[in-house]
Amino acid sequence: MEADIIIIGGGAAGLMAAYGAAERSRGAKVLVLEKMPRPGRKIMITGKGRCNFTNVKSWNDFSPHIRTNQGFIRAAFRNLTPENLIHFFGEHGLQTIIERGDRAYPSTYHASDVVDTLESAATKAGASILKDREVQSVRELSGGGFNLSCAGGETFTCKKLVIATGGLSYPATGSTGDGYDWAENMGHTVKTCFPSLTALVPDGYKTLPERMPRGSQKGHIDRSMPMSDWGKSLCGCSLKNVEVTAFAGQNVLQREFGDIDFTDGGIEGPIGFKLSRNCVKGLINGNKISLLIDLKPAVPKEELESRISSLSGLPAKVLLQKLLPSELIAGFTASNPQLFKGKLLNTKALSDALKAWKLDIAGFVGYERCVVTAGGVDTDEVVAKTMQSKITYGLYFCGEVLDVDCDTGGYNLHCAFATGLLAGQSAAK
Ligand SMILES: Cc1cc2nc3c(=O)[nH]c(=O)nc-3n(C[C@H](O)[C@H](O)[C@H](O)COP(=O)(O)OP(=O)(O)OC[C@H]3O[C@@H](n4cnc5c(N)ncnc54)[C@H](O)[C@@H]3O)c2cc1C
Repeated sequence: MEADIIIIGGGAAGLMAAYGAAERSRGAKVLVLEKMPRPGRKIMITGKGRCNFTNVKSWNDFSPHIRTNQGFIRAAFRNLTPENLIHFFGEHGLQTIIERGDRAYPSTYHASDVVDTLESAATKAGASILKDREVQSVRELSGGGFNLSCAGGETFTCKKLVIATGGLSYPATGSTGDGYDWAENMGHTVKTCFPSLTALVPDGYKTLPERMPRGSQKGHIDRSMPMSDWGKSLCGCSLKNVEVTAFAGQNVLQREFGDIDFTDGGIEGPIGFKLSRNCVKGLINGNKISLLIDLKPAVPKEELESRISSLSGLPAKVLLQKLLPSELIAGFTASNPQLFKGKLLNTKALSDALKAWKLDIAGFVGYERCVVTAGGVDTDEVVAKTMQSKITYGLYFCGEVLDVDCDTGGYNLHCAFATGLLAGQSAAK
């Protein structure tokens, strides 16, 4: 089959690219090839099924949440600001609700409504979305254009090609990193990929086999690995308003203030995720990563010591309950054996541990459950104003396949939509 523009991948970026290309070209044949039976499978699981699709901040406040290549995103952001995106959804019948932290959600709180709206906007503009079409190979034609082969033998040719295949996280949604190989085959550099916005696994939290499975990425601890008794004692605990400092060896990597959650994966929650990018990178590079948790950041050490000594007549359990959430006590004391001499609580050691609870990090949960893939197609080789390859004429990239990743809060989806729209519109020119 022949088309003017083909978009591989019907995720956030691909569906928006299809809309942009069809709406801008008026009459060009625009096809989306999506490998799954339904497009937008990953969108369906975003924001716990509610889809935090953008964040209504100005560029100056938005851009610090882009962790790599901020400058590359600026033109795409200008072309599709958060307000423009909200307007787009509104025009297509989906209203928005803004929550704490400027996070925008569909007013129905159903991620499926975002997918349906995108699909309908793209098809109404004239694009066709072909499902169950897994592209297996991409070949550049000598006279210009591209030839694609799908599983099952079907082939396609097109003049312009948009690669919107996403990253590697949650492969069951269809994102299995296929675009990276094609990019490399067409001369692009792919920056090393690694999981980000993921759980960090403290040493001893999981019961690990003596040997990790063959081919595992360094530091990867699969989410399905069983928890140790200590892990089970912490799992389900949430720490509010703590300060966490991440170290690589003796060097401070990053410091964050906020909330963390202990889950079946390890340490997650808003600041667990914020720290994960640098910690995962450090672990992959062979650094010794540890976290120091200050459970009482608002209380100076001396004040805490005198408070504890004023309570020192109390039985240990009662004293600990006055200082810690009761569900945390078992896990906290198990990882701080220095707190007890026999049955006696060492109050000095307690104030030290409350101000600096040290957890060595053994590894991280990988692509099976991370939110986003860091790394990807080198943005230096892509024109920021058009998303076109600087190496291959007629080739465009958008979304998570690019070396762009952000914090949680709607930033990742916004970047996918903005780069997708720009790629589609540029391909239609
Ligand atoms: C659990 C979870 C929650 C998240 N929550 C949020 C959130 O609330 N807010 C936010 O901003 N971000 C969130 N994200 C991140 C966000 O979902 C992604 O950054 C975004 O979906 C990337 O869009 P994309 O279009 O580039 O890739 P994807 O959405 O991954 O889409 C890629 C598409 O390409 C298709 N494809 C891949 N290979 C082929 C092939 N060979 N042939 C044909 N089709 C192919 C895939 O099937 C897929 O449909 C979340 C991610 C996860 C995993």
